[in-house]
Amino acid sequence: MIDKVVIVGAGLTGSVLARLFAEKGKLGVTVLDRRNHVGGNVYDYQNEAGICIQKYGPHAFHTNSTKVYDFITEYGRWIPYELRVRVALSGKMTPSPFNLRTIDDFYSQKDARRLKKSLEEAYPGKGTITVTEMMASENTLIKAHAQMLFDKDYRLYTAKQWGIPVSQIDRRILERVPIRLDYQDRYFDDEYQCQPAQGYTQFIENLLNHPGISVEINREALKDINFDEGNNRVSFKGISLKEKILLVYTGAIDELFDYRFGELPYRSLKFQYQTHHRDSFQEVPIVAYPQDPHFTRITEFKKLYPAGVAGVTTIAYEYPLSHVVGGGRDPYYPVLTKDSMQRYQEYREASKRYRNLVLCGRLADFQYYDMDQAIEKALSVFEGLSANHSN
Ligand SMILES: Cc1cc2nc3c(=O)[nH]c(=O)nc-3n(C[C@H](O)[C@H](O)[C@H](O)COP(=O)(O)OP(=O)(O)OC[C@H]3O[C@@H](n4cnc5c(N)ncnc54)[C@H](O)[C@@H]3O)c2cc1C
Repeated sequence: MIDKVVIVGAGLTGSVLARLFAEKGKLGVTVLDRRNHVGGNVYDYQNEAGICIQKYGPHAFHTNSTKVYDFITEYGRWIPYELRVRVALSGKMTPSPFNLRTIDDFYSQKDARRLKKSLEEAYPGKGTITVTEMMASENTLIKAHAQMLFDKDYRLYTAKQWGIPVSQIDRRILERVPIRLDYQDRYFDDEYQCQPAQGYTQFIENLLNHPGISVEINREALKDINFDEGNNRVSFKGISLKEKILLVYTGAIDELFDYRFGELPYRSLKFQYQTHHRDSFQEVPIVAYPQDPHFTRITEFKKLYPAGVAGVTTIAYEYPLSHVVGGGRDPYYPVLTKDSMQRYQEYREASKRYRNLVLCGRLADFQYYDMDQAIEKALSVFEGLSANHSN
C-alpha cells in the first residue's frame, strides 16, 4: 500500500497526476518544482502591457480524445479556438499546413489547375498527404511541387529547428505537418480545439487546488532522491522510511540517473520580445519564417486568446538553440535519432529496477508530447497504477 505520493514537476503531467492521486486515490500528494512557478512549459503570465504571454512558447489545445476533453473541462472553462498559422515563403504569406491555396499562391492559374487535378487523381478522397509521400510520386508535377516545398521550407526549417541535417532527423518529425489537399486553413484538424478562458497557469492552479495537495516551487528535488539498491526502491529525504512513498518523476530521465549512459540530446529556445503600440502586428498568431537564417517564427500573443487588449501588442521572435547540460538553458524538444532513442531505452531499463518509481511526462519519457498526449499518458499511468494496487 502507498501512504504518500511525491511528484517531481508541477507541469501539466505532474499536475494532472497530483489531482488524480489526491481526488480519486485519496492520497496525500506533495508536488515539487525547481522553477519559480507552476505549469511547466504551459506557464503563462500577464506582461506590463496587459498581454498574456506564454513564457515557453505558443500553445493551443487540440485533441480527438473525448476523455481528455472531458477531463480538462472539469477543471476550468475553455473557449473554442482554432489556431491559424502562416508561412512567409519567398516574400509571400501562405497557409501552414500548406494547402491548395499554396498552389494558387505559387503557380499561374493554368499550372495551378493542372497540379490540383493531378493531386485529385493521385490521391482520391484523401484529405492530407506527407511531403515525403509526395516526393516519392511518379507524377512529375506533384514531385516538383513537393520538392519546391521541401527545399524552401521543410529542409531549412528542420535543419534550423533541430540543428542537424534533415537526413539525420526521425522521419516522423518531417511528417508532423502534412500537406492538405483542400482549402481548409486551420492548423489542427482535431475535433476539440480550445484555449483555457483564464489562461494555462490558472488551469494548472485549478488542478492543484485540492486539500490533499501541497505544492513547493523553487524546490530542486534531485538532491533529496536516494536510490536504495538493496531494496530496489527510491526514498525521499525528509520522509520517514516507514512511510511507503510513490515517487513520480516528470523531469529529464538522464538527469535523474546522473547521465550514467550519457546525455540525451535536446533543443532549446530563446525568445526575443517586442511590444508595439498598435492593435495588430500580423494577420495570425504565428508566422513561420523557414528562410530566415536565425529565427523560426514570430508569435503575436494576444491572438492566441479570444480576448485581446486594444492599442498594444506583444510579439516574440523564436530562436532555436542547442541545449548543453549546465548551460543554463531549458531542454525543450527531445532530438529523436536512432542513437538517442537507444540511449533512452538504457535509462528506461535502469529505471525499472525501482518498484516505487514512476516516470511520466515529456522529459521522463523523452518524447514530444502535445498537451493532450501528456494528459492522456498521465491518465493511463494513473489507471495502470490503480489497477495494480487494487489487485
Ligand atoms: C515551444 C513549445 C510549444 C508547444 N506548443 C504546443 C501546442 O500548441 N499544443 C500542444 O498541445 N502542446 C504544445 N507543446 C507541448 C506542451 O508544452 C507539453 O505537452 C507539456 O508542457 C508537457 O508537460 P510536462 O509536465 O510533461 O513537462 P514540463 O512542462 O516540462 O514539466 C516538467 C516540470 O518538471 C520540473 N522539473 C524537472 N526536473 C526537476 C527537478 N529535478 N526538481 C524539481 N522540478 C523539476 C520542471 O521545472 C518542469 O516545470 C509545446 C511545447 C513547446 C516546447
